[in-house]
Amino acid sequence: EDSSIASPFPTRDKRTTADHLAKYEAMFTLPPRRMQTLVKTMEETFHKGLQKDGETVPMIPTFVFGYAGGAEIGEYLALDLGGTNLRVCLVTLKGQGKFEIKQTKYKLTDEQKQDDGRKLFDFCAECLASFITDDLGRTSEDQALPLSFTFSYPCTQSRIDHAELIRWAKGFGAPNVEGHDVAAIFAESLAKFNVPIKLTSIISDTTGTLIASNYVDPSTKIGVIFGTGCNAAYMETVGNIPKMKHLGMPDDQEMAISCEWGAFDSFVPQHLPRTKYDVIIDETSNKPGEQVFEKMIAGLYLGEVFRLVLAEMVDAGDLFLGQNTSKLEKAYALDTAFLSLMESDPTDELLTVIGIFSYFFGIETTLEERQFCRSLAKLIGTRAARLGACGLAAIVSKKGYLDKGCSIGADGSLYGKYPGFADRIHEGLIDIFGEAGRQVLRRSVMHLTKVLG
Ligand code: BGC
Ligand code: MG
Repeated sequence: EDSSIASPFPTRDKRTTADHLAKYEAMFTLPPRRMQTLVKTMEETFHKGLQKDGETVPMIPTFVFGYAGGAEIGEYLALDLGGTNLRVCLVTLKGQGKFEIKQTKYKLTDEQKQDDGRKLFDFCAECLASFITDDLGRTSEDQALPLSFTFSYPCTQSRIDHAELIRWAKGFGAPNVEGHDVAAIFAESLAKFNVPIKLTSIISDTTGTLIASNYVDPSTKIGVIFGTGCNAAYMETVGNIPKMKHLGMPDDQEMAISCEWGAFDSFVPQHLPRTKYDVIIDETSNKPGEQVFEKMIAGLYLGEVFRLVLAEMVDAGDLFLGQNTSKLEKAYALDTAFLSLMESDPTDELLTVIGIFSYFFGIETTLEERQFCRSLAKLIGTRAARLGACGLAAIVSKKGYLDKGCSIGADGSLYGKYPGFADRIHEGLIDIFGEAGRQVLRRSVMHLTKVLG
């Protein structure tokens, strides 16, 4: 009986992974009932946000009055300041829902995200200038091209070409932008670099996805982003937006709403099934208490949820015994892309998982540990998709799209690259709506538009 003292590891190993997996399964699984309750709460929250300013989920009127008709033609510039990249595009609309796109991408450094806001906008202007001159061969003599600026952070708008940043999200912290009109700051940067453009609009990526997807497929009624951040936009009628009443627009006037649902349950979380890992991520972020829903879904955070679980198990001596795990102990050391890779590993031995741990973290893994890691990734990725499904279902339910049917235009790195993400959202929607959901889903094809993504 002394053998268990001399060598406790084998017996302990045997128990760990299965036991732990069951524990995490309970923590990260969203049963249909729970989802249905969340959908109801989210719908109420959306309703509230449309009533008056300053609600937790701000339901932002974008001053985008309806969809494009599909007949639009011409050349337009688009600048997309996302959570990870800055993208500059020339979009040529050819009518009949057809278009061409030419683009350049610049990766943003963490320094740029934290440095003074002016520097960030100077950088945007500089990239735009070099795109226009070097890639398009235009000079300042040429006619100014119209530019739409996709600025995907919560902003208050009172016009389409005006956007006051409420708060940064997705880890950005650049000072001197919050509370200011982004268009005005950007105009100063454009003047500095003498860029021959005319800023015609500032929109969020979700509004862009909604309009662009509808341009390609007119049955699209919702635009959603599952990327570094997470949010959705849909078309509302002004009569359903009491906080806009004072503007005296006709009740049946269409208006795209960017929900900014990432803020759902922020400040005093009480509805979301948060784990202690979600709480740690929130509390150690540069914006504690904010974007609580987004922090459980978006690509910026999923790798960190996973890493926190592993770190805790390492501390308890339940994983990677006898190994140097210091590289794994660094916050945000494990990118969400690793979860995608682990989930899509096609080999029985889980060779990709071996590679990830040994190459990036200097850790040798047993097959059992690798299987555990893959299952854990699946739990975290699935939870994200199912929470996203709750948000979508809240819009579908609010707008009665279950009867009418609709397509959802989806974009973002998580949606595009995470294996099975779209399928999991579909399964989530069926769990929420039952057979009726299946019906609507058959008619709703999710499609990835490449327009601003
Ligand atoms: C922003 C939204 C944006 C979403 C997806 C969130 O962090 O607040 O404006 O649409 O990310 O990029
Ligand atoms: Mg993007």
